[in-house]
Amino acid sequence: MNYDIFLCKKCAAVCAGREGASTFKCCHCGAANRIDRSLKLASCVESKNVSGVIARIKMARADKDQHLGNGRA
Ligand SMILES: [Zn+2]
Repeated sequence: MNYDIFLCKKCAAVCAGREGASTFKCCHCGAANRIDRSLKLASCVESKNVSGVIARIKMARADKDQHLGNGRA
C-alpha cells in the first residue's frame, strides 16, 4: 500500500495517510482534516519510505520556519 503525506491544518504536524483518501486524522492532535491540494506534501510514498520522507519534509519546513519566524496562525 502507498501513502500520501499530509500537513495538519490545526497543528501543522506532518502525517502519513492512505493514498487517495479524502480526509485524514492527524497523527499528532487527532483533528480530522479534509484533504486538499495545499495539504498534500507528497503522494504515492511506499510504506517503507514514509518515515524518511516525513523526516525530510520536517527538516525542510524547520528551515523555512526559521526564516519566516514561524508566524503561522
Ligand atoms: Zn494536528
